Amino acid sequence: MSLAPDASSQRAVAGLTGPSCWSGSGAAGDLVWGLCAGSGKRPYQTVVDLTGPAYKCSCPSRKFPCKHALALLLNWADDGAPVFDSENAAALAALGVPTFACTPDAFPDLLAVAIDGGDIAAWAHRSDLAAR
Ligand SMILES: [Zn+2]
Repeated sequence: MSLAPDASSQRAVAGLTGPSCWSGSGAAGDLVWGLCAGSGKRPYQTVVDLTGPAYKCSCPSRKFPCKHALALLLNWADDGAPVFDSENAAALAALGVPTFACTPDAFPDLLAVAIDGGDIAAWAHRSDLAAR
């Protein structure tokens, strides 16, 4: 949680890491994205570019990164609990987009591959993540 700007953000993030908040999450290349249900009618659109890392979110928060971006990263790295929509994941996988849940112990390796511009799908297979 070293990216979180302050303690109140860390608490806010903890409330957003459950799968119920998120839909349409995924990852491809250097990007992770998701739709997070907020207080408004439309979900917030959150994207994290792992190369920066850089954050983009449609919420009105002035905190940077906002709690949605932090929760998205936490969810994405959660241990064996994929929160992305399985239908979206299947559709993306059919397009050849690497789609998988990354465990925390594998996360640093994934970041290294992403930063190096490596083949994430091949890495996921090597790490036995794609088959789980
Ligand atoms: Zn946000």
